[in-house]
Amino acid sequence: MEMNHLQELLIEDLKDLYNAEQQLLKAMPKMVKKASHPDLKEAFEMHLKETQGQVKRLEQVFDALGAKAKGKTCHAMKGLIEEATELMGEDAEPDVLDAGLIGAAQKVEHYEIASYGTARTYARLLGNEQAARLLQQTLDEEGNTDKKLTALAESSINIEAADMDDEDVAMQQSPRRSSGGSSRSGSSRSGSRSSSKSRSRR
Ligand code: FE
Ligand code: FE
Ligand code: FE
Repeated sequence: MEMNHLQELLIEDLKDLYNAEQQLLKAMPKMVKKASHPDLKEAFEMHLKETQGQVKRLEQVFDALGAKAKGKTCHAMKGLIEEATELMGEDAEPDVLDAGLIGAAQKVEHYEIASYGTARTYARLLGNEQAARLLQQTLDEEGNTDKKLTALAESSINIEAADMDDEDVAMQQSPRRSSGGSSRSGSSRSGSRSSSKSRSRR
């Protein structure tokens, strides 16, 4: 195809994004279902609703550029969703799957952040402030989602996933005694316990 003008490149990028968002609309309900932590479920649900608005907003951007809203397969999103689907097919501990889902979702957000940031800059360079403003709105939503996912991962979800090793399962069955007595402090058990803790804080 002929692409001599930045406007044409922008429209190609928008077609890619339009398709990427539509792929996500289809894929996200399964991620909502597979997430265990209520905060993660809620975050996914909220972003699913935002994504519906983002599709509509892209239609406004096409409009602002005098172009027809149309999609073109985003192969990158297809691949990212395939990886997430593969992950969801694993027989994983709920906390570990949550951590994996956050990682998969953040890869998607980063792709979107790069794409919307680029499109916003093109729109601005073309002097189309309306398109630039709309793209910036979605860019902000993607950025906030990414930050929220990082906060969720750091607050509890990844920590729980890291803690769930065999030793901790054994610990749950026979709870650790309080470390009041010094006689046991040199045991190998307490040593490996602390190394498992430090691993989780990596
Ligand atoms: Fe999006
Ligand atoms: Fe793409
Ligand atoms: Fe997103």
